[in-house]
Amino acid sequence: MRYTKIVCTLGPSSSTESEITKLIEAGMDVARMNFSHGTHEFHAATIDLVRQCSAKLNKPVAILQDLQGPKLRVGDLPPEGVQLKEGSTVFLYVVGETQPQQKAGQEYLPLLVPNLAKAVKPGSRILLDDGNLELNVTGVQGDTVVARVVLGGTITSHKGVNLPGTNLGIPGFTEKDRVDLEFGLSQDIDVLAISFVERAEDIARVRKFIQETRPDRSSLPIIAKLERPEAITNLHEIMHEADGVMVARGDLAVETSPAIVPVIQKEAIRMANRHAKYVITATQMLDSMIHNPRPTRAEASDVANAVFDGTDAVMLSAETANGSYPIESVKMMDEIVREAEKHSLEWSRLADLPEEAKKDDALSISRAARELAHDRNVADIAVFTHSGKTALLMSKSRPRVPILACTPEERTYKLLSMYWGVVPLVVPHASTLEQMVHYVDEALSKRFHLKPGQQVILISGFPLDAMIPPNLALLHTLGQS
Ligand code: PEP
Repeated sequence: MRYTKIVCTLGPSSSTESEITKLIEAGMDVARMNFSHGTHEFHAATIDLVRQCSAKLNKPVAILQDLQGPKLRVGDLPPEGVQLKEGSTVFLYVVGETQPQQKAGQEYLPLLVPNLAKAVKPGSRILLDDGNLELNVTGVQGDTVVARVVLGGTITSHKGVNLPGTNLGIPGFTEKDRVDLEFGLSQDIDVLAISFVERAEDIARVRKFIQETRPDRSSLPIIAKLERPEAITNLHEIMHEADGVMVARGDLAVETSPAIVPVIQKEAIRMANRHAKYVITATQMLDSMIHNPRPTRAEASDVANAVFDGTDAVMLSAETANGSYPIESVKMMDEIVREAEKHSLEWSRLADLPEEAKKDDALSISRAARELAHDRNVADIAVFTHSGKTALLMSKSRPRVPILACTPEERTYKLLSMYWGVVPLVVPHASTLEQMVHYVDEALSKRFHLKPGQQVILISGFPLDAMIPPNLALLHTLGQS
């Protein structure tokens, strides 16, 4: 079995029943709906197909809604784009705010960047198209910003714009995000990701919105995308507020520098694991497979190293959303991860628990179960969970055996598919320990073909109906219930 989970971004290359079926068969555990692109109709139809295919294949797939956040973009340009020559001057204006009197012989570029002229000053850097083009502000004339082209090239409509070090004062949770989130909640998403998070309040604001508008979904897990330098400065407080983080290396590299992304990745994964928070490593993992059937050797190493760093999941973006080889990309990722996991003992380091976590019963029980599983060579650890939290804690302890996560909740069943090492299973509600043992015994013997005499560990909160964090670990021998 593969422990590290695979997140696939769905788009035009992965939106038919046949494509989604093949993605699930190849190893997709989480379907990411990227709300920077696509209409609500597209997302609704694709989510519906994921649910149908997942039910047909009897393999749970969690739906992750990724909100665009305050993403800055280039406005509408001619289809062939605009050529920006290195050393030339370009005049920037904000669509909807101003429309400068354009003079012949001067290059004008429309941007969707609120407050641009007020926020920048001479020397400010403006990066276009993931940093492939760079401008340097030389002055401001009324509402128009004058800049020199430092790195030239062709720029086309709607490419991303980044202004590292400039505070535009734009709210993190935009009107579009609000509308998209309401839509996502109506589609019963399983997990939410927020873009361009800077501090803990950015997550708290969204959580409050969910509590007020959909109190029934107030436990929806929220993942903070780390793509701004401010998020790295405030990583500790973000880690406390969020349910997880995504190392969103695309924008992170543009906003900081590609050179420091590997170190930030390692630190973020270690901190997430120390705090028992979920972590996804994202972007350009198999980038060359957008166009080629095989990855580069560096990409294969990158995926394996994310596994050794201790990530819960690895993510594909354009590879599956609009690449030419979406299924091959998932198969390749699955293969690399499995190979890396054979060598986890040599190369992975289990994060130490922070001091405060050592006083936590649930974390201590999970760690004890991991040690017991190792000492007694048990085949499986079974957890009983309503919300999925017990399964996450067990997962974060990184046992060397699969975690069978039993839940009576259909919603939790889908969510569990994203947790490292977890195999989800729907079981009836158990109100006695005997029932619990019976369900596990039956599932492991009949569905997972374990043999009588093999040992498993059961983890649960006790008393069972109190629905409390795990405080009980039981060593069970199959066939003796
Ligand atoms: C990223 O920047 O790495 C990322 C995952 O964000 P998005 O794909 O939404 O731009």
